[in-house]
Amino acid sequence: MKRTIMHIDMNAFFASVEQQINPALRGKPIAVIGSNERTVVTTASYEARAYGVKTGMTKYEAKRLCPHVILVAGDTSRYTHTCRCLVEIYRQYTPIVEVYSIDEAFLDITGSIPLFGNAEIIVKNIKRDIRQRLGRLTCSVGIAHNKLLAKLGSDMKKPDGLVIIRQEDVDTLLEHLPAKELCGIGSQLEKRLSAIGIRTCGELGRASIRLLRSQFGVIGERLKLMAQGRDDSLVIPLEQEPDAKSVGHSMTLDTDVSDPETLERHILHLSEMVGRRLRRGGYAGRTVTLTLRYPDFDTFTRRSSVGIHMNNSMDIYLVAKDILNTIRLQQPIRLVGVSISNLVRNFGQIPLFRSDRVKQAATRAMDEINDRYGDFCITWGTLIERYHHKGVISPSWRPDGVKCINPSIQKTKIQFMSLHQTELTHHHLPIPQDQIRPETMA
Ligand SMILES: [Mg+2]
Repeated sequence: MKRTIMHIDMNAFFASVEQQINPALRGKPIAVIGSNERTVVTTASYEARAYGVKTGMTKYEAKRLCPHVILVAGDTSRYTHTCRCLVEIYRQYTPIVEVYSIDEAFLDITGSIPLFGNAEIIVKNIKRDIRQRLGRLTCSVGIAHNKLLAKLGSDMKKPDGLVIIRQEDVDTLLEHLPAKELCGIGSQLEKRLSAIGIRTCGELGRASIRLLRSQFGVIGERLKLMAQGRDDSLVIPLEQEPDAKSVGHSMTLDTDVSDPETLERHILHLSEMVGRRLRRGGYAGRTVTLTLRYPDFDTFTRRSSVGIHMNNSMDIYLVAKDILNTIRLQQPIRLVGVSISNLVRNFGQIPLFRSDRVKQAATRAMDEINDRYGDFCITWGTLIERYHHKGVISPSWRPDGVKCINPSIQKTKIQFMSLHQTELTHHHLPIPQDQIRPETMA
């Protein structure tokens, strides 16, 4: 059956949310950054983009290009709240909504068209609802018969655009389109394609499968289909997403840290963030992984598995701290991360011991207070001096729940250590050049 898929991409999302909340920022060049000293621009308003300010720049670069740019420390909770509101709006038009990232969603509106008339009416209604509920936020919308082309469409007209790609126009559209414009063809792939003389979708779509297979292995065939505008992937609503494999958070520190006490405090902070997300999603896990990065970007992880599934932040912290104690640090630490894997879902175990029941009740009370008044409203005394880290959001963030994080952490096992099955892993992580590092959400 021919489907109708819509891709909605919010325009300059973080910056627009900030401009909506604070009228003094409207019409001005602003750049949303983290509160960290070493932060980068996560989003620039269109006024700042006119000066060349872009995502991923340091704030110094942004200032150099646009001296009067207003730097706004982002606040993740505002964006996650707005995203939840957007999803509620989308769901009034179809139950099949896939949250692709915090500011992008796919909607399968095939079944809704008879109800509303046509796709344009649905877009008009959604844009109106967003305006009424959330103010001056705009979005670009692409409509096509598959996700790949819908996403391409939303990219073609910004801001506040609507592009409908009809089946009969696909070949003409793709013939001269650079292959890198397709979602999924990044700069690395683009380089490898141009090395074999392929630049446009037209050329890629005509390339022989044998050549593509020999160059790109199993994805060769898929690349050819993509270049022909073919994609049969489904829009997967949240409740059908696969269960999380791990839950984790990491943070780049303001200054490199070698003092163990300070490191432990960061680890407690991260453990609480991980624990909160586990409990919110009804998960518990058995394997804790600690990730550390030296200033030269040498990154290594160590993990430790315990006999029981846990979702209490303090339990996670104690395991992570044990791991830290087994490591002899060679240099100060630039980045620290805590994650938990070996997850089970629907964890509702009643603790056996009274002390554990008290701990569980205390955790529940803390969660309820923090749900109501904001994260870290009530927390441990040692975290009073915690790192205020807001504004950088993990690309795997989801409006209601938990999603797989950082698969790189889960790889090689090299050496076993004594303390409950601690594994040592050591590898260099590539430094992403063209994207924001997936970091912490507060
Ligand atoms: Mg966007």
